[in-house]
Amino acid sequence: MLKRRSLMIVAVVLALSTQVKAQEKQKSAGHVPTPSEFLGFEVGADRKLADYKQISSYFKALAASSPRVEIQVLGKTTLGEDMFMAVISTPENLANKAKYKDIAHKLADPRGLSSQQIDALARDGKTIFLLTCNIHSTEIGSSQMSMEWAYNLATSQEPEILRRLNDSIVLLIPSLNPDGETMVTDWYRKYLGTKYEGGDMPYLYHHYVGHDDNRDWFMLTQIETKNVNRMVYHEWFPQFWLDEHQMGENGPRIYIPPNADPVAKLVNPLVHRGNNLMGAAMGWRLEEAGKSGVIFGYSFDAYWPGGTRNTGWWKNMYGVLTEVASARIATPITVESTELQGGGKGLTTYEQQINFPNPWPGGTWRLRDIMDYELLVSGAALETVSKYRQELLRGVATMATQAVQTADPQVCWRIPIEDQRDPVTAARLVALLLEHGVEVRINSDAKIYLVPTAQPYGRFVDEMMGVQRYPEVRPAANSGILEPYDVAAWSLPLMMGVKAERLSIRPDQLNSARILKEAQWPEGGLTNANGRYFTIADHQNNVFALANAMQAAGGQVFLSQKPNETPEFIFAAHAQLAGNAEKFHLQLQPRSDLPQGATPLKQPRVGLYKPYIASHDEGWTRFLLEQYGFKLKNIENKGVKAGNLNSSYEVIILPDTTKEVIMDGKEGRGGFFEEFPPEYAGGIGKDGLHALRDFIDKGGTLITLANASDVIYGEEFNLPVRNALASPGASAGRAATTTSDFNIPGSLLRVYLDTNHPVAAGMPHEIAAFVDSPIAFQTSQPPPDMQRSVIAWYPDDAKDILVSGYAHGAERLQRKAAAVSFTSGKGKIVMFGFRVQHRAQTEGTFQLLFNAIFWGGM
Ligand SMILES: [Zn+2]
Repeated sequence: MLKRRSLMIVAVVLALSTQVKAQEKQKSAGHVPTPSEFLGFEVGADRKLADYKQISSYFKALAASSPRVEIQVLGKTTLGEDMFMAVISTPENLANKAKYKDIAHKLADPRGLSSQQIDALARDGKTIFLLTCNIHSTEIGSSQMSMEWAYNLATSQEPEILRRLNDSIVLLIPSLNPDGETMVTDWYRKYLGTKYEGGDMPYLYHHYVGHDDNRDWFMLTQIETKNVNRMVYHEWFPQFWLDEHQMGENGPRIYIPPNADPVAKLVNPLVHRGNNLMGAAMGWRLEEAGKSGVIFGYSFDAYWPGGTRNTGWWKNMYGVLTEVASARIATPITVESTELQGGGKGLTTYEQQINFPNPWPGGTWRLRDIMDYELLVSGAALETVSKYRQELLRGVATMATQAVQTADPQVCWRIPIEDQRDPVTAARLVALLLEHGVEVRINSDAKIYLVPTAQPYGRFVDEMMGVQRYPEVRPAANSGILEPYDVAAWSLPLMMGVKAERLSIRPDQLNSARILKEAQWPEGGLTNANGRYFTIADHQNNVFALANAMQAAGGQVFLSQKPNETPEFIFAAHAQLAGNAEKFHLQLQPRSDLPQGATPLKQPRVGLYKPYIASHDEGWTRFLLEQYGFKLKNIENKGVKAGNLNSSYEVIILPDTTKEVIMDGKEGRGGFFEEFPPEYAGGIGKDGLHALRDFIDKGGTLITLANASDVIYGEEFNLPVRNALASPGASAGRAATTTSDFNIPGSLLRVYLDTNHPVAAGMPHEIAAFVDSPIAFQTSQPPPDMQRSVIAWYPDDAKDILVSGYAHGAERLQRKAAAVSFTSGKGKIVMFGFRVQHRAQTEGTFQLLFNAIFWGGM
């Protein structure tokens, strides 16, 4: 019986392989080059790297010579490079792409299909398998590996490989951040053979967001994220997503699924079952090939939705992460056995455990090792998705059906269109849901958006729209809880300051609401073009964009600010006003004159400090301020130290980073730090600090974001403020407070605002502020020539503090200030303890930063 069956399989595979070969003859008889042949060096060898242009040219050559490979351009990158994906399968499957995309789409949204129809689709469909590489640019191995793996799939005549290709369509993205791949290879080559070989770059490896490009997958702010999101949720609907990364060098050699705890409540457990199946296959194939150091249930949790494949879990997609130990880019390293360490979840000490049955003993580790591990897991992944093709395809449909059936068909998220403080941001939230492939309806009188929870992506909707309560998982009865991997809150309406509620809607109301096909923006323009001045009552984020655009165009902008009233921006008539108002979706009313006391605004010149130990917050702040049209320049250590800052800037911003980074250009890593090339060494030092003080004395405005406030507690500024969460004697906030007595890893907290302060003007009295650092300002009496203001403060009662996420030790924030300002003469200092523009996600508090900048220009 067994023998007969296996003979049959052989016969099928042989027939298949003849069929594939026959089709292949039609396209090309050309020789398919190996990556090493084509590029003229040994790919994967020590100290050799292919850059993005080389990788791209190799894939083009592969597509030209192999009928199993096609190239799809996903869009442009931030710096204008073509971002591409290889589509790899049998020629027959490639010829029928449209059919297989359609099947995948139907399985992702199987509403209206019978179970027989779903079974038939699962039988006829192919697994769409997405493999993404190198989102983190220094994790370079997978970008190099992708060429070898693609070559193997394009040329192999092994029946098993042909069977896998017949069952699947592989979508292979060699780099999710092409610009960063180029930066890292350039930097690596530049310092090859010097003492800086393989060291860190002194800037972010994405023009704006660096490593945080893998924190953007629910907010979709960056062009690369948008490109891939569109392909995944609007075109190909892959059932399985594998994302290959690298981790530190002193622990396990590779992490494979299952994930570590905790687990997100709303993700269908079938996702984890599929992921674990793939993890088992990966572990099996690695061990079989003699690879040691394989671990699962380690470090990477199943809770956070911000990274590539994770976001898909809530949309019924299987998705796994692998992390291979790093070398020094392409330079080999040696790890002493005494240097091997556990740490973090799942491996407290570096010992044999059931999730780590075969520890790596230490030794040499090189790029080639990384790529070999990655080739094995890529192969095991394709093996799994083809072997379990029908189950996986049916699984996606099962999960989508369950998402619909287990939800109350009347329960919706209701987002009013007009009754919003910031209608454009409300529209942006809806546009974001549409980008995610979520079904949004608009009611018959076009006043309300309804987002049904009973839809295939309904659990994603609840996750993103609702509040988070972090699960307190304890590995042992008397131990502390497992810490979150990243942040603990992502409630979009709260973060964006948009009114939305979850409620039951009458079936007739829901049925009469039509499905929204594309995002709808409030109509902008001038209600009447005949006016000397124009105004808008709302204090929306985009009003600042309009004010900046008009000032850049030479227009006049005024601000009228009266106690207990919403401040009013007033725009003088200008040829570009109507066009800009339309562009920013703002409707302006004419008014005949200026209100008494209206101040003319001068667009401030903003200097954004950029440290050489790259700061993500610097990148995000730059991204955000550019989006809103602020007049912005980076200022580096040399520029700060040179002084005379008032001649170039009205406002200087210190982004969220540590005092050591700003002052000395060092990261507090247990004493040892790697040196940068001399031109990037050091920080602003005492001279820079003195120059900042001088800048304020001469009327400048300094804004510090979160931990950057540490640099101004000392003698130089001598301000009546301290961080109440820093232990006595320590100046650094972050270092002084341990997570055992205080831990708020990125949560939304209730904060009250003094809306009569220029920085909080036009804001609501109560906001949800994003907090991820132990900072609570305690001010005291200033000298007579100084004013201090508490702009924002935490509630009196600790139980009122947490809004979404996780907060341990919140009582230490009670009645403490969350944002303060100091003025002396014309000089101003504004200190924000929370993250006003965290990862460009917290739209509800952007205005605090915008106001502070404008205040600096007054
Ligand atoms: Zn990574």
